[in-house]
Amino acid sequence: MGKRQPVHPHPAVGKGRAALKVLLIEDNEQNRYLATFLLQKKGYEVLSVADGLQGVEAAGKERPALILLDIQLPTLDGYAVARRLRENPDLRETPIVAVTSYAMAGDREKAMEAGCNGYIEKPINPDSFADEIARFLPGKPQGGSRE
Ligand code: MN
Repeated sequence: MGKRQPVHPHPAVGKGRAALKVLLIEDNEQNRYLATFLLQKKGYEVLSVADGLQGVEAAGKERPALILLDIQLPTLDGYAVARRLRENPDLRETPIVAVTSYAMAGDREKAMEAGCNGYIEKPINPDSFADEIARFLPGKPQGGSRE
């Protein structure tokens, strides 16, 4: 009969809160897969792209709540991506978290100088990854009672 069920674009919408969108800019397929899996499990919506230029474009279009940024990337490296993102007034306040290799300590300072808000070390720790990222979001999606 008459009434149609509305189609929810994402499960979280039905719970009255839109999922936070995370943009993942990462060229390594395994890292992309793992990070996406861990974030989706926590209820984030994840968009991922595999090179720097696509990352800049996607960020401008999608306006994610947070950007995870690999440093070594094709087309534009992570530093250049961060600088370009910060030139966009719409993205000036968006948290950018660099994902850096442990061995490359100098990467971190450079990433911060380029406009990143923080960094996470590779390899990703599956147990703490989502919590580490939540620290950079203004409204934490879950928990958060310990701070
Ligand atoms: Mn890379």
